[in-house]
Amino acid sequence: MTTPGNKIKVVCRVRPFLKTEKADESVTVEHNNVLRVTNPRDPTKDVKFNFDSCYGPKVGQETIYRADVRPLVETVFSGMSATVFCYGVTGAGKTYTIQGSEADPGIIPRAMEQIFMHKKHDAFDYDVRVSYYEIYKETVFDLFKPRDSSGSGGLPIREDASRKIFVAGLSEKRINSFEHFDLLYQKACGNRRTASTKLNNHSSRSHAILTVQVQWKDDLGSGKTWCGRLHLIDLAGSEDNRRTENGRDRMAESSAINRSLFVLGQVVEALNTGASRIPYRDSKMTRILQDSLGGDSQGMMIVNVSPGEAFLQDTHNTLNFATKSREVVNKPVAHEVVEQRWTAADRLQHHRGMGRPTKS
Ligand code: ADP
Ligand code: MG
Repeated sequence: MTTPGNKIKVVCRVRPFLKTEKADESVTVEHNNVLRVTNPRDPTKDVKFNFDSCYGPKVGQETIYRADVRPLVETVFSGMSATVFCYGVTGAGKTYTIQGSEADPGIIPRAMEQIFMHKKHDAFDYDVRVSYYEIYKETVFDLFKPRDSSGSGGLPIREDASRKIFVAGLSEKRINSFEHFDLLYQKACGNRRTASTKLNNHSSRSHAILTVQVQWKDDLGSGKTWCGRLHLIDLAGSEDNRRTENGRDRMAESSAINRSLFVLGQVVEALNTGASRIPYRDSKMTRILQDSLGGDSQGMMIVNVSPGEAFLQDTHNTLNFATKSREVVNKPVAHEVVEQRWTAADRLQHHRGMGRPTKS
């Protein structure tokens, strides 16, 4: 069972080098929970970042799912909420992690399979409903409905009588099997892709949120109706878009992305440090997810990073955002240099013009 005030778990995943990339050792995993990264400003130093868990490039989808995601999905059947975010710059592996490929499915298909497996083997009559939407420039779009390229058709956020936040007019598809889900989901992903080509790589500039709601009546006991919710989120790319883009549209996009990711970071930090004020209302996404973040909900942020020197600055920005605990250390190679530091005898010999003695 969960306890009130659960923290948001922060785990890191380093993707493998792609065929087109030159491999190096600038990003390495130590002891399953530490990421060691070359300092981009001083390559003689490494910075170590601590996580709840840390997965290297060889760790597959199944392992991560079993260790970190499966237990969280299971809490939905206790009537609780759980949220998984993938955070990182474009190309770091967020979509691969949350969605995966047909050959190597990610969190979404695995979670749906788990839910339908549970449903099949349990006495209760679970009602499973799914919504899929994206937040682009602080506007909510339904991914189960085809979207016009003008970008209109955003949905409003409202509060109901019991002060619960909801997206007005968002479709909720009742799902009866994994195959049924997969069909609808593939089509919805197509809506995201179509919008993406029309609006210039829009998919890395929006947050995509899949919400699965599991509701059932405890007709064997209390007679009460319970509802658990699972949110699986592919966040917008966290790169600083201002670096390469200009123009009014891009600036509006960038500031919306940067702001909503900033607010998410603040919410996670406030929850993890037990702060009294959690700034949920400061962005659309955290406002919608308010009831599923903190309290007795389970939350996890997967921090995706690319390996290699080429991405070191992005990797540092990502890690500085996602972890509060870091430590600067000398690189192992630097220790060798320290060991060979000149001794007083070396200096004496040098002054006598004899050069540095070779190590015996
Ligand atoms: P993002 O969604 O963060 O922009 P992607 O998930 O699209 O990044 O990943 C970028 C590229 O790296 C894709 O070609 C993807 O297939 C590949 N990739 C990412 N993570 C992995 C992984 N763990 N194993 C194998 N390939 C990966
Ligand atoms: Mg992506």
